[in-house]
Amino acid sequence: MPQTYSYAAQHASDALKPYRFERRAPGADDVQIDILYCGVCHSDLHTVRNEWHNTLYPSVPGHEIVGKVTAVGANVKKFKVGDLAGVGCMVDSCQHCASCAEGEEQYCENGFTGTYNGPVFGGENTFGGYSDHIVVKEKFVLRIAPTDNLAAVAPLLCAGITTYSPLAHWKVGPGKKVGVVGLGGLGHMAVKIAHAMGAHVVLFTTSPNKREDGLRLGADEVIVSKDERQMATQANQLDFILNTVAAPHNLDPFLALLKRDGTMTLVGAPDSPHPSPTVFNLIFKRRSLAGSLIGGIEETQEMLDFCDKHGIVSDIELIAIQGINEAYERMLKGDVKYRFVIDIATLKQEAAA
Ligand code: NAP
Ligand code: ZN
Repeated sequence: MPQTYSYAAQHASDALKPYRFERRAPGADDVQIDILYCGVCHSDLHTVRNEWHNTLYPSVPGHEIVGKVTAVGANVKKFKVGDLAGVGCMVDSCQHCASCAEGEEQYCENGFTGTYNGPVFGGENTFGGYSDHIVVKEKFVLRIAPTDNLAAVAPLLCAGITTYSPLAHWKVGPGKKVGVVGLGGLGHMAVKIAHAMGAHVVLFTTSPNKREDGLRLGADEVIVSKDERQMATQANQLDFILNTVAAPHNLDPFLALLKRDGTMTLVGAPDSPHPSPTVFNLIFKRRSLAGSLIGGIEETQEMLDFCDKHGIVSDIELIAIQGINEAYERMLKGDVKYRFVIDIATLKQEAAA
């Protein structure tokens, strides 16, 4: 059984600290991956601090994993030793319900298995990518095209697919005016992807100092959402809004910006509810308020190929594993441009010391 070196939290108020555990040896359908980089998602922080009240401890987060294949099982066809590979938010699902049959494993009716924190309907814990290697069923491993910027590809495995999937589902493209709320890890990917899909992109941010970045990343307009006058200029204009904000906030000012039949989709997952929106914004213009969860495995591959074709990667700040707790504090302050990625070499050096 291969020994794994990782960083884990032992309880909700604990900092992440070194932790050793054993991964399974690769079985016939498994791919073993030497992890090179792992992105830092706000969901990691929500989980480590038990903000969703479902955390299994010890908690080893990390679901934006890229690395190199070091072993494959006898039945593995798509990967060989030395290939680049990625792992996102899921490592298994039932494979026989209607959602799995349609390639929407994230909506598995028997509960998918998260890359960390175990199966969603309960069961044994799983340990994520803040670790030196991982063993995953081939079906849940993604192909990564050759790149000289592998670290910046890592965030596509969660931030990329979580924004690509709803943008594709609600048919964002040329002729559509699309709002993105929040310029963080998810938001900056949404801006890049919606722009590449050909939409007119309006970024809504609470941070006036993110204006130049928003435009550089692909937004056509930037609106400071706290400024009612700026918000009023967008009333009834947007076909679709993707809301990535990680904290409870008033949804009404955004719903009022949708056209008739427009939809706002929530992907941000705050620890407590948003204030309930008024029904009048919805019924008078037949608007919809929706939600969306990551994306299926096939769609994740489609997103990776789309990003490769369009030259899209994440804007990252590379950190050492030893800086992870400080990185969480900075993420809470919105002080990250726009995704922290852990250089797993720093973890391996510590393990060897
Ligand atoms: P992040 O990097 O921290 O970005 C969140 C952004 O929200 C901030 O940069 C900020 O943008 C905006 N914001 C406005 N007010 C805020 C406040 N009071 N507190 C925090 N943020 C505020 O987070 P992320 O990694 O993109 O994740 C965003 C949310 O999506 C999290 O809740 C995460 O758990 C969730 N998530 C959901 C899925 C899914 O499948 N649905 C997948 C991954 C993550 P401005 O400065 O521009 O206002
Ligand atoms: Zn995530």
